[in-house]
Amino acid sequence: MAGNIAGSCLCGAVRFQITGAFEQFFLCHCSRCRKDSGSAHGANLFSATARLTWLAGEDQVKTYRVPGTRHQKSFCAECGSALPQLQMAGALLVVPAGSLDSPIAIRPQAHICCADRADWDTHLEDVPTLDGLPG
Ligand SMILES: [Zn+2]
Ligand SMILES: [Zn+2]
Repeated sequence: MAGNIAGSCLCGAVRFQITGAFEQFFLCHCSRCRKDSGSAHGANLFSATARLTWLAGEDQVKTYRVPGTRHQKSFCAECGSALPQLQMAGALLVVPAGSLDSPIAIRPQAHICCADRADWDTHLEDVPTLDGLPG
């Protein structure tokens, strides 16, 4: 399954397409990914072979790198949504799973950096699940 995968930001200014397959999918609970995502963990897809094409709004894409680290985030300058980025001098495509509009074949392979997870991030499978908003 190496079709085109579509993605976009929340405001719609940035749209992109990925051609090819993802090799890895990790849920990272490290403190940088928690800050970066505003959530319990990052959810990033990785590929050394897929190609990223910006369809709209490439000039709106900003990239921030935490000084002295390899942690880097790309986002829409208008709405702040996480967007794909190239790392390792262009060798590795990193795609936030939530930025995609197309279904993907790969499932997360591991929760990583769990030693660094939020103190409330335990037994989340025990939390009630609702189909919509709380009543
Ligand atoms: Zn946007
Ligand atoms: Zn992380």
